[in-house]
Amino acid sequence: MRPSERPLITADAIARRVTELGDAISTDYADRDLVMVVVLKGGLFFAADLARAIRRPMALEYVRARSYDGQRSTGAVEVAVVPERPLAGAHLLVVEDILDTGRTTQTVLDMLADMSPASLALCTLLDKPVRRIVPVSANYVGFTIDDFFVVGYGLDFNERYRELPSIHVLE
Ligand code: 5GP
Ligand code: MG
Repeated sequence: MRPSERPLITADAIARRVTELGDAISTDYADRDLVMVVVLKGGLFFAADLARAIRRPMALEYVRARSYDGQRSTGAVEVAVVPERPLAGAHLLVVEDILDTGRTTQTVLDMLADMSPASLALCTLLDKPVRRIVPVSANYVGFTIDDFFVVGYGLDFNERYRELPSIHVLE
């Protein structure tokens, strides 16, 4: 198994889309200070770029969730790292690498909703809607893709390939 030679989504295309998402989020949060909740590890690269494309004051928090063992969804989701400070009354924007079955994201959203935020929104770089089991939808989507297993720009296969600048299909 290795990443396709040709990217599915190039680093340039990602950069252009991140700028557009940053513009949209800056407009939507014009009168609200946001707290970006980065879902580790996959969301790390996307969140770092997106944060710099949003021209609004923000704070960063991190959660760590995993549901995947290699290429296979185990169904079980654990939220291992949780925000350190109370987020009641905050405007939360969850930043995910990919929305697949929806189990991971729903678990994270439920945990954050229990903290009584003022608002809760979701931004995902990639969306694979055909794979959805739990009906989650994102407020901001970078790219909608078919049912490929992809790596790069934060996304891994057994912890490899996160560092690739573009997104590739694993073949
Ligand atoms: P879900 O809970 O939505 O099924 O899975 C979401 C998580 O599974 C993502 O955050 C990601 O870690 C992993 N995942 C789902 N699809 C892919 C994929 O195509 N490539 C990689 N590398 N991870 C994926
Ligand atoms: Mg993930």
